[in-house]
Amino acid sequence: MSQSFVAPLAALIEAFQQLPGVGPKTAQRYAFYMLQASEEKTHRLIAGLQDAKAHVHECTHCHQWSVTSPCGICTDVQRSDTILCVVEAPQDVYALERTQAFKGKYHVLGGVLSPMDGIGPDTLNIRTLLDRVQALCQTHGNQAIEVLFALPPSTQGEMTSLYMARQLKPYEVKVTRIAYGLPVGGDLDYADQLTLSRALEGRQLLL
Ligand SMILES: [Zn+2]
Repeated sequence: MSQSFVAPLAALIEAFQQLPGVGPKTAQRYAFYMLQASEEKTHRLIAGLQDAKAHVHECTHCHQWSVTSPCGICTDVQRSDTILCVVEAPQDVYALERTQAFKGKYHVLGGVLSPMDGIGPDTLNIRTLLDRVQALCQTHGNQAIEVLFALPPSTQGEMTSLYMARQLKPYEVKVTRIAYGLPVGGDLDYADQLTLSRALEGRQLLL
């Protein structure tokens, strides 16, 4: 176990173990690999981490990762302002962008409701979504606005879409969700492009 490693090595193993999906064995393998890695490889990893941490931030509008705020998608005049696609995590934006089937804008919720894990409405980016919807309604009129939920096909994802639909009711906007041809419990990120494109095309009215 890690007690038998010299302190700096044990600390490195522990640091790798913080990564998602990395257990003790994999963490040890990564640490041993890094100890034997060339200066150049080590430097690239350190510089990559420092650069990304220093320059990639959340867009204050949509909460997507970006080096600018508002981000490139929020400021893209070629994209429709009247449809907002709500996703769980920043990586879902990349997944949907790969399909090239969506030409509106996004809103990253930062998770889905999960009371058992202590994730309630206050921990998600709901306030900023409602503010954006209100501003869009003022600019374009309620009838013109669509909020499309592309949350994971799980109990929590479903619960979140329905909760959000109720929150959006007073705005009298169109609320839809993507069709489910997606594997239950799977992430958007793992769905293939064709499945995602079809899920977008076949979206259903939620409200
Ligand atoms: Zn943005």
